[in-house]
Amino acid sequence: MADALTVEIAGGGIAGLTLAALLARRGWRATVHERDSAIREVGSGLVIHNSSAVVFEELGILEHIVDGATRFTRSRLIDGHGELVTDKQLDAVSRMYNPLRSAVINAVHEAAQQAGVEVLTGSHVLRAEADGRLLLSDGSERRADLVVGADGFHSQIRDGLPIPVSKRTLATGCTRTVIPRGAYDAENAFTEIWSGTNRLGICPVSETQTYVYFGCEQANQRASATRPVDAAYWAETYPFLPREFIDRLDQGSAIRHLYPYVRCQRWSHGRVALLGDALHALPPTLGQGVGLSVSNARALVEELEGADHRAIPEALRGWERSARPLTDLTQDWSMRYERLSSRWPGNESARSWMLKHLPRKRLNQRLGAIDQRAERWAPARRSVSVPQEG
Ligand SMILES: Cc1cc2nc3c(=O)[nH]c(=O)nc-3n(C[C@H](O)[C@H](O)[C@H](O)COP(=O)(O)OP(=O)(O)OC[C@H]3O[C@@H](n4cnc5c(N)ncnc54)[C@H](O)[C@@H]3O)c2cc1C
Repeated sequence: MADALTVEIAGGGIAGLTLAALLARRGWRATVHERDSAIREVGSGLVIHNSSAVVFEELGILEHIVDGATRFTRSRLIDGHGELVTDKQLDAVSRMYNPLRSAVINAVHEAAQQAGVEVLTGSHVLRAEADGRLLLSDGSERRADLVVGADGFHSQIRDGLPIPVSKRTLATGCTRTVIPRGAYDAENAFTEIWSGTNRLGICPVSETQTYVYFGCEQANQRASATRPVDAAYWAETYPFLPREFIDRLDQGSAIRHLYPYVRCQRWSHGRVALLGDALHALPPTLGQGVGLSVSNARALVEELEGADHRAIPEALRGWERSARPLTDLTQDWSMRYERLSSRWPGNESARSWMLKHLPRKRLNQRLGAIDQRAERWAPARRSVSVPQEG
């Protein structure tokens, strides 16, 4: 019997662990190096779409991830006057869930371990070489058929490769907090409220918790405050929000991050591939960072099927050819959505009018293209229905 193919993955985030689990289930010997002392995620909600759900279903962990978590029934946008701008019923392909990040990382970690992946924490990777070598900070070196840099936005693996990269943080960021759930957010709806350059997301996580995010320009000091969240500012910005909701806003601990952006001129170099935010970080305006990461991991696995040691560099180039167009499209739309929601130069009513009158069917197809692609890996049990909105 031929020896198992080997993969060394830098980064024990959702992207790296998902790829490791998928490959190990196909007979690969997989090792994940995580520089942190534990596998963990920040404490917030995580909006996941069909693009992630299909892959988590394949790993047998979707039920576990969404156990007790909200599955949204509708997705709606309200403007700064409190007017409903769009309201979309969610079907099988446009499905959205809102578990805690910890539930997702714990589940992919467990799936990886059950598939036999070696997960090394406190293992800091320095560099990867085109011939399949991985260099670690303790001076040791590992060799594999495939090396993957899934080490996030600030990827050292990527930055050590001769691949031109466009990388920046935007002038917009997002504060995230989880607060007790109450009357205003009683419905299982995904709600965004835009006002000028501010964007408020209200997303119930479970029966008792709601994930709230505030997107705004970093220069707006009151809007970007985290310790504590400036509830009075948000009450002034959205005067129609009920007091009982405003009073809950500073009841959770808040974290803030600027929106990231990465685009690489090539996705691989020899036997080294990039994955997840290391490859294509994008502003979270469409909530597709994880969806892109794990569905591109699934696409990579498909491309590697049947490949032997010699064929791997070509398989990586084939993966880029097939997965890149949708990735770039999703990233472009996330950037457009960021400009529309957070840097709109015109007046509020003009934006609402435009959003109400856009040809929704075409727009939904563009925004949801990555969810549509995931259907090719979905079990046959679900008959695909494309969102039918006029
Ligand atoms: C404010 C905000 C909100 C978001 N909301 C959503 C959302 O609702 N839905 C969604 O789908 N996406 C969302 N995203 C995007 C999503 O979080 C990312 O796309 C996703 O987490 C990327 O996963 P990753 O595994 O590629 O990277 P990461 O999660 O960054 O994981 C990389 C891992 O590599 C490790 N590492 C780094 N360097 C090294 C090294 N040298 N050696 C070893 N290990 C290393 C890190 O410690 C980390 O554990 C959001 C992003 C932001 C900023």
